[in-house]
Amino acid sequence: MPGTTRPLGRHSKILIIGSGPAGYTAAVYAARAALAPTLIEGPQPGGQLTITTEVENWPGDESVLGPDLMARMGEQVRKAGVDVVSDLIVEVDLTRAPFRAVGDGGVRYTADTIVVATGASARWLGLESETEYRGRGVSACATCDGFFYRGQVCAVVGGGNTAVEEALYLTNFAEKVYLIHRRDTLRADRTNQARLRANPKVEMVWNAEVAEVLGDGGGVTGLVLRDTRNGDVSRLAAHGLFVAIGHDPATALFKGQLHMDDEGYIVVTPGSTATSVPGVFAAGDVQDKLFRQAVTSAGMGCMAALEAERYLAGRNAHAIAAEGADIGVLV
Ligand code: FAD
Ligand code: NAP
Repeated sequence: MPGTTRPLGRHSKILIIGSGPAGYTAAVYAARAALAPTLIEGPQPGGQLTITTEVENWPGDESVLGPDLMARMGEQVRKAGVDVVSDLIVEVDLTRAPFRAVGDGGVRYTADTIVVATGASARWLGLESETEYRGRGVSACATCDGFFYRGQVCAVVGGGNTAVEEALYLTNFAEKVYLIHRRDTLRADRTNQARLRANPKVEMVWNAEVAEVLGDGGGVTGLVLRDTRNGDVSRLAAHGLFVAIGHDPATALFKGQLHMDDEGYIVVTPGSTATSVPGVFAAGDVQDKLFRQAVTSAGMGCMAALEAERYLAGRNAHAIAAEGADIGVLV
């Protein structure tokens, strides 16, 4: 069921931006704490899992379709009484409380606390054939899809830590893994490079880029590679292509207002979801470039809601104490 549209804005104790596992989980916890949260769905209601098929690592479900899982989470959120709004936040002002956010239709939201759960998205190569076979042999997540390649041949493209870790992870299932990199040196750290060299299932394909993904209509059958030095073209047989050339966190909105690392991920206090602005919390892929999983995002959503609740309770206690002091009452 889509969220409601609202002609005028209103004030919430907690505004949750994003409807992936992090946002939905934050919403359930906030609703159960009687904080009457507002949740903004954004451009992808249900988040990244709505564009995948089987999810086999969500606790409690041996196998569940990503869109079904997210529809169930959405239903739970609505039943908990969360105000789910179909809108896209285009502007925020976190410089003073109450915080302000503006939707793309001009609706204004104010909130005492904000949970940022806007996620991230994988970078893709930009090939038509890559898009055609996405979810049918082309993936950006070995942890999610590696299991489907038991005894098969896979290729990973990229030269950073993610690509190396994806390749190593895939060796748990695949018979052989090619790591295709456009240069002749890896960007990955020494430890990962040593692990890679020690693994007999991995073969490096240096100075190469993927020019086309080949398939039989149902799935991937191979790749056309282009030599980055001389343009020579060759073919490589493979059942799966894992693209690991980086991710982009959806944080443009918060630039200059929240502390971010040099890749644009929101920086949080270790062991917490607290951002550089008191009262603003960040959960899920928007602050996590290491795990990028539904269950870790949901966990952070829970943390963010509990931390927001504590923040509000602390602020109320402070206000009551100040009021007591004003009228000469000992509190
Ligand atoms: P997301 O799911 O990215 O959700 C972000 C939300 O923010 C979206 O609802 C979006 O609409 C909203 N948003 C963004 N910008 C704005 C804005 N300006 N205003 C309002 N809202 C906004 N993980 C697993 O654990 N198991 C798997 O099997 C698995 N398979 C995957 C398969 C694929 C193809 C992909 C892409 C990912 C997969 N993942 C899997 C990873 C998992 O989907 C992510 O780790 C998880 O969805 C991150 O959750 P999130 O809530 O942080 O953000
Ligand atoms: P990254 O370090 O930016 O590496 C991206 C890789 O993809 C680079 O090797 C790059 O090639 C290649 N690439 C980029 N665009 C490409 C294209 N269009 N075609 C072909 N190749 C392309 O990204 P990452 O590996 O996702 O890592 C992101 C950050 O997270 C890094 O800081 C990384 O160290 C960190 N991380 C750490 C760990 C860990 O510590 N265990 C694990 C994962 C990630 P070039 O090298 O030629 O630029």
